[in-house]
Amino acid sequence: MRLKGMNILITAAAQGIGRASALAAAAEGAVVHATDIDTESLASLYAENSNIKTYRLDVTKQTQIDALAANLPKLDGLFNCAGVVHNGTVLDITDADWAFAFDLNVTAMMRMCRTFLPGMLDRAAETGTASVLNMASMASSIKGFVNRTSYGATKAAVIGLSKSIAADFVKQGIRCNAICPGTVDTPSLRGRIAASADPVQAEKDFIARQPMGRLASVSDITPMVIYLLSPESRFVSGQAMLVDGGVTI
Ligand code: NAD
Repeated sequence: MRLKGMNILITAAAQGIGRASALAAAAEGAVVHATDIDTESLASLYAENSNIKTYRLDVTKQTQIDALAANLPKLDGLFNCAGVVHNGTVLDITDADWAFAFDLNVTAMMRMCRTFLPGMLDRAAETGTASVLNMASMASSIKGFVNRTSYGATKAAVIGLSKSIAADFVKQGIRCNAICPGTVDTPSLRGRIAASADPVQAEKDFIARQPMGRLASVSDITPMVIYLLSPESRFVSGQAMLVDGGVTI
């Protein structure tokens, strides 16, 4: 019950790391406001834990963010998890893909923070601390990887956004950190493997870049999510926390 009574909003909660985080946070006693555009997968979360409330939210739409914020209690925790991966070098990037990657991976995150932070500041004044957690990545933001140019640029921006929020609000009890996973076995990773020319080799290549010899499972990542959302991390802010299976050793 490390998050008992806390109101926590999670984006991209229908599948992958976001979904596992919603379930883990609810198991720790949080009231979880789980959001995604995939309402069908989202709906099954409530059946798994009735502490999870579900809402359709496209994080690229400020009007939808505002409408949701108007109907939610003030948050103790915000986990911005939504993001997209584009494949390719700088020579492959189209202006449209670049703009979409920044819109979803960075601008939407800024808008979520801007919208929910005032309520979180009130909660921090009452309880001593509130936590913003932004999903970055190890890939091409901390360590260079092939074919991840726009992705790496957006995830590096997420780290900058997180450090800036941390610096601006540290004296008011707000902590803001980024999480940087290695390669995690999620539906979108499976999609990237399936879409490659040689899926068997693609999976081997993903595993080969992990020194521990395996992909992460979502349950390798959720302990860091819970720690950073919980008051246990009350002395931690402005960090890019690597959970990468030793890639950056
Ligand atoms: P995923 O990519 O499998 O699922 C993403 C979810 O985001 C889906 O449920 C989708 O419906 C939702 N989504 C897409 N567009 C949205 C929008 N506009 N508004 C709201 N929701 C939207 O999940 P994942 O692989 O766990 O990735 C989650 C996050 O973790 C991403 O930011 C990703 O960059 C990051 N990440 C993933 C890995 C990995 O290897 N899987 C590694 C490091 C970081």
